[in-house]
Amino acid sequence: MGRADLHTHSTRSDGKDTPSTIIRLAEQCGLMGISLNDHDTLDGLEEFMTAPSSREITRVPALEISTQYGEYSPHLHGYFVPENNKLLESKLTWLRHERDVRFSKMLDKVRELGVSPSKKYLEELMQGVMSPGRPHLGRILIDYRIVQDMNEAFDKYLKKGGDIYLPKVKLDIEEAIRLLRKVGAVPVIAHPLDIRAPSIRDCLIEFKEMGILGAEIEYDYTNMGIIEKPNVVVNAAAELGLIGTGGTDYHGGGWRVLIGTVSVSMEVIDQLRDAALELGNDLDSWSN
Ligand SMILES: [Zn+2]
Ligand SMILES: [Zn+2]
Repeated sequence: MGRADLHTHSTRSDGKDTPSTIIRLAEQCGLMGISLNDHDTLDGLEEFMTAPSSREITRVPALEISTQYGEYSPHLHGYFVPENNKLLESKLTWLRHERDVRFSKMLDKVRELGVSPSKKYLEELMQGVMSPGRPHLGRILIDYRIVQDMNEAFDKYLKKGGDIYLPKVKLDIEEAIRLLRKVGAVPVIAHPLDIRAPSIRDCLIEFKEMGILGAEIEYDYTNMGIIEKPNVVVNAAAELGLIGTGGTDYHGGGWRVLIGTVSVSMEVIDQLRDAALELGNDLDSWSN
């Protein structure tokens, strides 16, 4: 049985490759299954689901939502997300709107530092950017000589509690889980060790009570400075009967993990599909 990479991002969120390119790369590296998990958007899924390929490759429409859980910000995958779902789309549109508002408020604070970026400069900076955020403001601070580099920009102004920082609007994790289940998408906690709570097992127990059905157990945490053993997640997932997913979190060429280098068995897709059916998803969208 073949392998599947169930965590990738395209240009529709913060990745560098288009959804079609991701299909081509998946094909080239011999994957049998692939999902697209762009942050807080379904925009890339139509292209992803319909891009041509020379052989059969199972495509799982998905997304990754940034959520709030007390002081933590767990990421949540939704697998087999349906097409044209008004409830989900309107929530995601609202989230993006709130983030645009946050960005313009932070940009106002940049202006208060005496920087007045021209319209042309801003247009060039933001061209093709789907999720404007602090790195873009950091770029402005560098270009206008307020700081020397991105580290200084974050340290002095953009980090949590900094003069320019404003908190990002996120869905409460319980609300996000409920929303995904309601639309028939399978909620799975992404890279659980990155939550960095004292007990990941306790978190997973609580998330399970809220309704998650899976946890990402195959994940490359190198470079995240995480020393805790992934065994914690593997054991808790087994104990709680969660579907164990995995993938590269691929963001494009040059990304630290290349597509297909972290993968799970194709059976995981079957488990996710069964779970979606049980949530009432008829899987009758995305021309599948
Ligand atoms: Zn993530
Ligand atoms: Zn991701």
